[in-house]
Amino acid sequence: MENMIEFKNVGFIYEKHEGEDTVAVENVSFSVAEGEFIGIIGHNGSGKSTLSKLINAILFPTTGDVMVAGINTKDHDRVWDIRQTAGMVFQNPDNQLVATMVEEEVAFGPENLGIPPEEIRRRVDEALSTVEMGEYINKKPHQLSGGQKQRIAIAGILAMKPKCIILDEPTAMLDPSGRKEVMDTIKRLNKEEKITILHITHYMDEVVDADRILVMDGGKIAMEGTPREILSQVEKLKDLRLDVPQITELAFNLKSLNIPLGSHILTVDEMVKELCQ
Ligand code: ADP
Ligand code: MG
Repeated sequence: MENMIEFKNVGFIYEKHEGEDTVAVENVSFSVAEGEFIGIIGHNGSGKSTLSKLINAILFPTTGDVMVAGINTKDHDRVWDIRQTAGMVFQNPDNQLVATMVEEEVAFGPENLGIPPEEIRRRVDEALSTVEMGEYINKKPHQLSGGQKQRIAIAGILAMKPKCIILDEPTAMLDPSGRKEVMDTIKRLNKEEKITILHITHYMDEVVDADRILVMDGGKIAMEGTPREILSQVEKLKDLRLDVPQITELAFNLKSLNIPLGSHILTVDEMVKELCQ
């Protein structure tokens, strides 16, 4: 399978004119295969947003290379190919919606790509139906809930037919029902549309179903593995100032009371099964 994204020994420094430079990303190497769902976690300032901007050619590596679908992000002539291939969704839906109507909002990306109007129409309808927002086509974005706004932002990306979507804490400003709407949408895009997903989040429960998790700390990848491999390392996650899912924490605490439990409990169902044995 082709690598959708590849980081080769990537470093990134924010240069300050006065005072200290900030090393935000340091010697990071990883690759993401087409169709994968990658969860990226890490406490504030660990370099997650910088990493995502390096993929989208918003920032360029100080050292090393970032490849997106085989294109080096330093290849300035290909910036729009890269941004079309790997779309970004940000934390605050109000900062990324630019149009006064939902329809215009979703059409904005394909219009910039020079797609013919009839094709844009089709793409807008299709994208809105994929995020289950078809009936909101004539609404104004400010009339929508946070979760609905994020789904419109996702539809705007979908209308550009991306192979990959990077979401930088897209649920951070949403209430629980908005979070669920957005997570259901992202998971469906991965499963049904085969879109590669990089999902950056603070919420551990949002990465339990990921194919792989990367844990960032101090600009480096501190841990990498399946959710089971990562989330079972409760003490290490706590050292990295991360919360663990409640059920994992419960398993950890019960085991420290010498209650015999398997070591890889991630879900309530698995906990019930273990306890009943
Ligand atoms: P995260 O998204 O994990 O919170 P960031 O990538 O935003 O982490 O930040 C990584 C480091 O880079 C932090 O130390 C942060 O203060 C610094 N940083 C982020 N953006 C800038 C910027 N525009 N200028 C200078 N330093 C920055
Ligand atoms: Mg961030």
